[in-house]
Amino acid sequence: MLITTIDQMHRWSAQQRRDGKQIGVVPTMGYLHNGHCSLIKCASNECDVVVTTIFVNPLQFGVGEDFERYPRDLQRDYTIASDAGTTVVFAPRTDEMYPSNYATFVDVGPIGEKFEGTFRPGHFRGVVTVVAKLFHITQPHLAYFGQKDYQQTLVIAQLIRDLNFDISMVVLPTVREHDGLAMSSRNVYLSPEQRHHATALYRALQAATNAINSGERRSHALAELMTKVIADNDHVRVDYAAAVQAGTLEEVTEFSSGEQAALLVAGRIGPIRLIDNELVTIP
Ligand code: AMP
Repeated sequence: MLITTIDQMHRWSAQQRRDGKQIGVVPTMGYLHNGHCSLIKCASNECDVVVTTIFVNPLQFGVGEDFERYPRDLQRDYTIASDAGTTVVFAPRTDEMYPSNYATFVDVGPIGEKFEGTFRPGHFRGVVTVVAKLFHITQPHLAYFGQKDYQQTLVIAQLIRDLNFDISMVVLPTVREHDGLAMSSRNVYLSPEQRHHATALYRALQAATNAINSGERRSHALAELMTKVIADNDHVRVDYAAAVQAGTLEEVTEFSSGEQAALLVAGRIGPIRLIDNELVTIP
């Protein structure tokens, strides 16, 4: 079923709750791929009903970013989402979510100011605001997110804690193409040649993971290694490459055994910006 108004979505979710149903929500910006489908399939296994939201949220795009040209195809998405186990696709119009008198925003703390927050000022404020709205609108018991956007999962965990949403968050692994490139709606922008260069991000993560497994503990050495692997490819510009504590995104001098490191990379191929990450437990 397709729902486009907040009022109808509220009423549907309220009815499901009265009927004792567990509601799972999968927030997306659409142009669905197998990464999204893995979230929907997991939600459909764990919940009685699944709401997949499709909304290209203008608030999380900066000036000069790709909001206008972000790929959109609701019909295609509706079929993919339904086939993967979605009960309701919630696809509101922009003015349904942000009427002209809209004025309230949710600010995230320091966790949203690093990495993506530095390169995309205001991005997480937009993400957190829309996710808070989608939680209120869809009334889920469980909410599904991808590790692909690792910093985003920390920011949303903070939102859920701080604003006391009675929602369990589920984070699922990154789904990749055969050559390691993380699936992303933005991959459609890549020319065949750019698509080839885009694997540099994954190769950097692999190189750092191998270094950790061979005994490297120094955060800066891991960052340098990832930067070098990406920068060796003339077509990819590095925005950042870092090895940080997974829970806090704090830099450390050296990781200790048993600690979880987050390897974070972001780069640009022409105007196309790609991010990726890997979580590694230090042996
Ligand atoms: P997006 O439509 O890109 O905003 O993503 C919607 C949700 O799907 C977010 O929770 C993403 O982290 C997740 N997601 C996007 N790409 C992938 C992927 N390759 N593997 C797993 N989850 C993903």
